[in-house]
Amino acid sequence: MSIDLTPSWQDEELSMFRDSVSRFLEAEVAPRDEEARKAGNVGYELWRKAGEMGLLCTDIPEEFGGAGGDFRHEAVVAEEMGKRALTGLNHSVHSIVAHYFLNHGTDEQKEKYLPRMARGELVGAIAMTEPGTGSDLQGVRTHAKKDGDHYVINGSKTFISNGFLAGVVLVVVKTDTSQGAKGMSIMIVETENQPGYKVGRVLDKIGLKAQDTSELFFEDVRVHESQLLGGAEGRGFFQLMGDLPYERLFIGVGAQAAMEGAYKATLDYVRERTAFGQPIAEFQNTKFKLAEIATTIKVGRAFVDECVRDMLEGKLDTTKASMAKLWGSENQCRVIDECLQLFGGYGYMNEYMIGRMYTDARIQRIYGGTNEIMKEVISRSL
Ligand SMILES: Cc1cc2nc3c(=O)[nH]c(=O)nc-3n(C[C@H](O)[C@H](O)[C@H](O)COP(=O)(O)OP(=O)(O)OC[C@H]3O[C@@H](n4cnc5c(N)ncnc54)[C@H](O)[C@@H]3O)c2cc1C
Repeated sequence: MSIDLTPSWQDEELSMFRDSVSRFLEAEVAPRDEEARKAGNVGYELWRKAGEMGLLCTDIPEEFGGAGGDFRHEAVVAEEMGKRALTGLNHSVHSIVAHYFLNHGTDEQKEKYLPRMARGELVGAIAMTEPGTGSDLQGVRTHAKKDGDHYVINGSKTFISNGFLAGVVLVVVKTDTSQGAKGMSIMIVETENQPGYKVGRVLDKIGLKAQDTSELFFEDVRVHESQLLGGAEGRGFFQLMGDLPYERLFIGVGAQAAMEGAYKATLDYVRERTAFGQPIAEFQNTKFKLAEIATTIKVGRAFVDECVRDMLEGKLDTTKASMAKLWGSENQCRVIDECLQLFGGYGYMNEYMIGRMYTDARIQRIYGGTNEIMKEVISRSL
């Protein structure tokens, strides 16, 4: 049952890059994963090492300290982590933040933040969700009020990925509370020694245990007006909408990689494990399940690859990216559930990767816009 899952966009250079990413993950990340799951974060050192190894901001131009690659390099990093259920280092959110700077920041903002993010010295986070609003982003209440040449930010955010370790947070605020989308802006907040900025609990999640997801509080946080992303008020909502395909494709790519990793681990397991005097792999039910799963991931690979190519050509639209997120995450949950079943009781143990993949998968249908919102978006284009 060997099926070729090599991405159609992979060339020799990317294949070598994949090998070096794999070596880094096996040497530096995997051995510390259990510790990170207990601590609820991977620590600063790993981010810096990932920066040194050239794993961060791979698709940011070299003039801003990035590796000068493209989305394929980002996909390779996400895939190699996704296959191994190494979720602690949320490199994709870091890249999403870098892209807000690249696509919408002023030259000064790009020069100030991107090189440090690429080196892993500053971990990036984006704070949209609040205790009272998630899907309905126009309902955010955190606001930034002009005071001379500064803004004063008040409010709170929750469920923020990289929130505990973040050195720079893009905070979605209202600069005009009388307006909906047009009243929204994105403020750049540096967290170190920032009066009024407080990180709350590292939230206790059912999965993604090694990843820091936190509450953030802003009490009269003063930032200079030069910290307004793009330098003009009222653009926040449009900046967010513009970058959605990038974020959603990451979820689709991660979902595909997790399915492929789960499939491979399951194949290995069912060939080893025996019952009734034969390997589990020999039961017709096992063969049929794996045949279905192999078909799903082969089909999924073709669609994800098409989306990656569209991204490279600058033509991936929100509808198609939403399909990648919707289809990928729904199938990820189903496939991993079916794989886990073939592990029997061992599948339910956190010690086994498949068990961790099961709880990690569930959030994929919720964040990045819930799958119900994906269907809303897709249906509007029909
Ligand atoms: C682990 C984790 C990491 C996260 N990381 C980040 C992050 O880095 N930054 C950030 O800003 N946020 C982050 N989030 C928040 C996440 O994006 C939100 O949880 C998500 O957008 C949903 O918002 P909500 O939780 O407020 O749910 P709600 O918006 O309250 O939705 C509840 C339910 O109602 C449904 N619903 C809502 N509106 C509609 C509609 N119009 N039609 C049909 N159904 C609808 C939803 O689909 C959902 O099923 C993270 C969340 C988690 C758990």
